[in-house]
Amino acid sequence: MPARKTMNRIFPIGTVRRKIAKAFYQLLFQRNEFKKNVKRFFSSPSAPLHGEQLPSLKKVFCSVTDRCNLSCGMCPRKNLYYGYADIDNGILQRVYDKAYDLYFVGLQGYGEPYLYKDLYKVIETLKALMPQRGEIGFNSNATLLERSHIVRTAESGLDNLTFSVDGATRATYERIRKGAKFGQVIKNIKDFVHYKKQVGSNHPKLMMNYVIMKDNIQEIPLFVELSKQCGINAIHFNYDRTSYRCLQTDELKEAFQEAKRKAKDLQVILYLPPIYPVKPENEFCVFMDTVVLLNSGEVVPCCRAADFDMLGDPQNILSFGNVKENSLDDIWNSRSYISFRRQVFTKNWPRFCDGCGFKSQIFM
Ligand code: SF4
Ligand code: SF4
Repeated sequence: MPARKTMNRIFPIGTVRRKIAKAFYQLLFQRNEFKKNVKRFFSSPSAPLHGEQLPSLKKVFCSVTDRCNLSCGMCPRKNLYYGYADIDNGILQRVYDKAYDLYFVGLQGYGEPYLYKDLYKVIETLKALMPQRGEIGFNSNATLLERSHIVRTAESGLDNLTFSVDGATRATYERIRKGAKFGQVIKNIKDFVHYKKQVGSNHPKLMMNYVIMKDNIQEIPLFVELSKQCGINAIHFNYDRTSYRCLQTDELKEAFQEAKRKAKDLQVILYLPPIYPVKPENEFCVFMDTVVLLNSGEVVPCCRAADFDMLGDPQNILSFGNVKENSLDDIWNSRSYISFRRQVFTKNWPRFCDGCGFKSQIFM
């Protein structure tokens, strides 16, 4: 055929044609490799997400102690599988190593922080290491707030202190917070507010926390008054995690309405959770720049991943590493953790996030 003859003339059979064929196949192979590499890059977990990167690590929650002097019925600590210990110095060092880059450290877990003997040392060390605008905070049951603690807390530079008080009357409070004395707790809180006024200090910002349960719904409006009487102008309401679905009643709606009216009159700021259920399009995860560091050293992505009441079995814990073996940065940047965060960030919710109350802001 003339065409074949022409071909043979241009590419003589033998070495030249073999070389051309080889070059052609190489080009093809490299092009496919190149395409594969591009594809691999854009599907990798650390790839930009439509021009945005995943948020970087800015908040750490770590429990300075998992010991507590109370035994509240709704507390998930009863299911802790690694014992009730104070934080290990090695774990603390990992937080110090990252502190230069953190906006918030919550010294909060499954215990009462005032039981931890080095509490002020930790606050002062973190304050020295964290950026200027970085904040430190924790929740306390306010049972141990003697004058010496009040003075040291105010001097330590702590930014936020939240008192957990789940009742507006002695009977309800003492039924829920087993082991605490209502009168003493209210006195301690008032003493703290008074001390701050006396020395003219803004630190720490004080707040009340109220876990809403079936048997304290009716005291929600009264709690606004109690908070004001204590001199605290901000209240965070939260649902009990195990029973929030059956709390969504008309009684709750009325209690919220009444609480809002009182808060307006008394100029108290309320943080009320939404009434369940929340529309799926409004869901998002508030833990995208956060890790929760357990006293076992495990790094989990959120409070839910460390809630043993919800997980049922410690085997279900979602850990991406242990700071006894690796730094927080190494764990945060591990492929599996990035991949998980990427799914959450893009709302391709992993199975683990099914039914999560944090993503619908039911819990905060
Ligand atoms: S005070 Fe807090 S940590 Fe202690 S038992 Fe009660 S809820 Fe749990
Ligand atoms: S959506 Fe819920 S379960 Fe998932 S990471 Fe966020 S807080 Fe955790």
